[in-house]
Formats: sequence, C-alpha cells, structure tokens
Amino acid sequence: MSKYILAIDQGTTSSRAIIFDKSGSVISMGQLEHEQIFPKAGWVEHDPQEIWTHTREVIGKALSTANLTRHDIAAVGITNQRETAVVWDRNTGKPIYNAIVWQDTRTQPIVDRIAKDGGVDRFKSIVGLPLATYFSGTKIAWILENVEGAREKADAGELMFGTTDTWVLWNLTGGVNGGVHATDVTNASRTLFMDLETLKWREDILDVFGVPLSMLPEIRSSSEVYGEAEPNSLLREVPIAGILGDQQAATFGQAAFDAGEAKNTYGTGNFLIFNTDTEIVHSKNGLLTTLGYKLGDEPAHYALEGSIAVTGSLVQWLRDNLGIIKDAPEIETLAKTVDDNGGAYFVPAFSGLFAPYWRADARGALVGLTRFVNKGHIARAALEATAFQTREVIDAVNADSGVPLTELKVDGGMIANNLLMQFQADILGVPVVRPVVAETTALGAAYAAGLAVGFWDGLDDLRKNWQEDSRWEPKMGEEERERLLRSWKKAVTKTFDWVD
Ligand code: ADP
Repeated sequence: MSKYILAIDQGTTSSRAIIFDKSGSVISMGQLEHEQIFPKAGWVEHDPQEIWTHTREVIGKALSTANLTRHDIAAVGITNQRETAVVWDRNTGKPIYNAIVWQDTRTQPIVDRIAKDGGVDRFKSIVGLPLATYFSGTKIAWILENVEGAREKADAGELMFGTTDTWVLWNLTGGVNGGVHATDVTNASRTLFMDLETLKWREDILDVFGVPLSMLPEIRSSSEVYGEAEPNSLLREVPIAGILGDQQAATFGQAAFDAGEAKNTYGTGNFLIFNTDTEIVHSKNGLLTTLGYKLGDEPAHYALEGSIAVTGSLVQWLRDNLGIIKDAPEIETLAKTVDDNGGAYFVPAFSGLFAPYWRADARGALVGLTRFVNKGHIARAALEATAFQTREVIDAVNADSGVPLTELKVDGGMIANNLLMQFQADILGVPVVRPVVAETTALGAAYAAGLAVGFWDGLDDLRKNWQEDSRWEPKMGEEERERLLRSWKKAVTKTFDWVD
C-alpha cells in the first residue's frame, strides 16, 4: 500500500494540501492564501475559481516538495470552511456568484422574514441550529433571490450548490465531466436543511427557503470512497475518501472520538466541539447541535458546538484597520508591554455575537477606557476577549452536559500566543493542552480518508498518534478570575441593541 495520505484543507484564509504519514506526522505542505473580498460592510466573499486553482497548485506543491507522485498517496481527505456557499452552473461548471463566506451577514433580512413565523428557533429541534446568517442555507436563498436569472436556472435544475468541500470534490473528480456532487454529514448539518435524525434533506424546510432539492449534493458519511481524482489530475485515480467540516476535522484530528471529549480551535473565529457520542443533545445554553462524524455505515456521532465569530480576526483587524501591529505575532509583544488590561474590555461583536448569546443586533465595543489606557492595554484586551468568549462557551457546555471539562485540548493559529494560552488557562481554571501535531484540521481529514481505505485499522491506531506538546496550568486566584469575568459580562451587555 502507498505510504501517505494527502489532506486538502480549504480554509477561510488559505487553501492547503498536507501530506501525512502513518504516525500522523506532516511530510510536506503547500499553502496559498486567497483574496478576502469585502464589497460592503458585513459582506464577505471568496472567488471559487481562485480557490479551485489554488487547491490544484497546493496539491502540486505538497507532492513536489516531498518528491512524491500519486502512486505514493493512498487516499485524499477534504476539510473545509463549513458554511461558505458556492452556487454554480452544472453545465458550464462556472459559479454564478462569488462564494458567500460564513462570516457574511447580508442574509439578515431573509433570517428575519423566515423567523417571523415561529421565531429563530423554528427549525432548531430538527436541524440543531437557530436561524442565523451564519448558516449556508440562508446564503443559497440570497443568491437565488438576488442574482439575475438564478431562480429560473435553479427551477430548471441547472444549478448546483456546495460548501467548499463539495466544490473541491466535484472539480477534483471531473467537474462537468461526471464530477461527484456530494458532501458529508458534518457539512450538511450546517445548512439548516438536514434532519439530524434521518441525515436527509428536509423538503419542507427547503420549501420555506425556496431552495430546490435538485441543487443539493448527496449526503454521505465522513469516511468512504466518494470517487477518484479525474484523469488529468496530478492525483489521477487516487480515491477521495474522507470529508469533514473543519471544526469536526480538528476534533477528529485531536482524537476526541468519545463522549465528553472536546477541543477548541483558535483561528479566524473560535470553535469548541464537545462530543456527545451517538446522542442528539439539544442545548439549553446557546450551543448548536451538530454532527461530529460518521464512519461509513456506522452510526453517526453528534456534538455540541460553541461558535465564536471573531477571535483571530480581531488580531487581523488591529493589524489591518488600526495598524498598531505589523503582523499577528506582534500582538503578544505589544500586550507584554503592560501588566494587565488597564480596565479595558474589547467585545468584538463585529458580526453580532454568536454562542452563547446569538445576538444579531450586537456590534463591537471597547469599554472601560481612561486616559491611562494605551495600545498595549488594547492589545491585551483583544487577546483576553478570545479567552473570555471561550470561557462563556465552556460554561454553556458544562451546564448542558452536567460534567465539567477537566482540561481543554487546543489547536489553530492563535495557540502560538503564549500570553493568550496562559490567560486562557487562568480564566478557565483548568489546564490547556496542545498536541505535537498542530495541523489537527488537515490531520482529521487525513484520518477519515485513511480509515476508509484501510490505511489505518481503527480509532485505536489514531489515539496512539496523539501526543502532548505543551500544557498551561491555571495560576490565577479565584477572586481575580471572578472579578475579571464580571467586568467582561458587563462589557458584553454594552454591545446589545446597536442594530434594529
Ligand atoms: P483559519 O483556519 O481560520 O484561517 P488559522 O488557524 O490559520 O485560521 O489562524 C489564523 C488566525 O490566527 C488569524 O486570524 C491570525 O490573526 C491569528 N494569529 C496567528 N498568529 C497569532 C499570534 N501569534 N497571536 C495571536 N493571533 C494569531
């Protein structure tokens, strides 16, 4: 058997291809960033053609860097930014509009319209999600309602929808020449259209959104052979055998396979996933119910999720919009110039607040300012915002599950920040733990693909691959922690009611 698995990680800021060996170690990588398109306030788009071109290029880069060919690759796994919606013409293979990214809030009027009858939790007991701009279904509806000719084409069965896993899979397996139009349960569980119990599209909900069933991909498991790479591809005939949405992939890559295990990813936003095994748990505390993973014909595993819209992107904002840092790592240097936040709290409700508040009407606030506060305090407040938001999500998980988390496994770009990780442990009061292989998202997709083709025998093989790299122990006193949390919660209330 070939010695490696290739994972494609189609993320929010970049597309990566990473080649892993059996121990889960990274052999080589290709990575290209794509343009973030902001046509108006609240709108975020990507060019799907750029994403596909980059995906092909990074596959080539990963193979050539390690001097490998398709014969060395046993299978390909795909992981992706989850709710970002692409709609394309099935005859030409061309997108009819840019991809509308998960952070985009333009669909609020559609959400409001649908919520008029039954409120935002109208479909929650079926799909696990509140109505919110975040989810891909609202974005499909927007494209059908606003792109000229889209509705007619959709009704004639000429359009296809996919999140970027589906877009990459369809193109990789031949596109207009017989490409496979499929997604996995984890991505499907982010549309607002999939029934958590049957794992099928709900036609009654599709009708409410005005989305024809013919546009939607087939829902498959997260680990099975969906198809083979097309003849002209560098990966010709290699099976595509794993798909997991990025957060579920990271959970899988962290080997959090069982009930009560969890991980938190610190990227553009933060995403905590808590495994509830084969049980569908409906949150009473603002968490989403979502698919965890499904291996072939085995029963689906579910999860509770706490999604936070803005964490690492606040660091980008300080860099790009305020210019007080030159690059992301510099925020730590700047934050270290001061001892504490100086009384400043920064609530980055740039796209409203996600978990556990789900307030579309919220907008960002920097409060507690005095003449004393300088840019070091602001940098610190920005980092602390990530930790406070995470603490609130974990409080919700603990309340829903009844079993408090005893440690937190972490991954993502922001965990390079030691000050943040220490503050996170302090504000949680439990240790924060980082694995040796930090590329957990790609690794999870590789695991799903490798399991499907027998590259790995089972989950025990994968558990053995997980190794601890660093651990941050809480050092802050209880009183101090509670004082900071009280101020944070007060700051959060200042962000409400900014948008009608
Ligand atoms: P994604 O997968 O969402 O694109 P990544 O996991 O690659 O994101 O993480 C990138 C994010 O992490 C960026 O938003 C960036 O601002 C932030 N980031 C990267 N390095 C640091 C750092 N040293 N300190 C704080 N934030 C950082």
